[in-house]
Amino acid sequence: MRLCFASNNAHKLDEIRPLLPASVELVSLAAIGCHEELPETQDTLEGNARQKAQHVWDHFGVACFADDTGLEVTALHGAPGVYSARYAGPQRRSEDNVAKLLQELQGQSDRTAQFRTVVALVLPGGEVHEFAGAVPGRITEQQRGQAGFGYDPVFEPTEGDGRTFAEMDLTEKNALSHRSRAVAGLVAFLNG
Ligand code: IMP
Repeated sequence: MRLCFASNNAHKLDEIRPLLPASVELVSLAAIGCHEELPETQDTLEGNARQKAQHVWDHFGVACFADDTGLEVTALHGAPGVYSARYAGPQRRSEDNVAKLLQELQGQSDRTAQFRTVVALVLPGGEVHEFAGAVPGRITEQQRGQAGFGYDPVFEPTEGDGRTFAEMDLTEKNALSHRSRAVAGLVAFLNG
């Protein structure tokens, strides 16, 4: 089966390819001729992941999965959540998003949060499956670490050793991360 991963991040494709059964040929958006911006207009992670994968199936006739991730902060009632990428504005700048988050949490004693990823898979014929992964943690008072991206410098996972995601190497982060947990569900399903 040809299976598209609806992401423009080649690195994510390379990571997941070796985990899939040999019967699955993993292809990029470019490889199926999809060069347009995928729609992402829903107000939930589930909705957005589904919308992107469904768009590829509807317009290109290729089975597809897509992911969507959000940081859900308890004291902010789940924000920035589905709006994590554009929390500080449409420019989608991580530095601005992190600065806004620290500002919003100033003086706040409850700093608990979770990263959550939803992967939606649309199979030939239109059957849809969803896989979720989450990692609990807390938002630090200050940024720590240089690795990773996005909110990594301010996210300290509960199951870790006190370091933020940005202080871990990729293998360490992947052992705990929301995205690898959601992808593990997808891989188990495809292997089953
Ligand atoms: P996306 O759904 O993967 O595009 O992620 C949405 C936003 O959440 C991104 O713009 C990042 O800022 C943030 N994000 C997603 N995954 C991670 C992560 O693993 N670490 C830190 N930030 C992340």
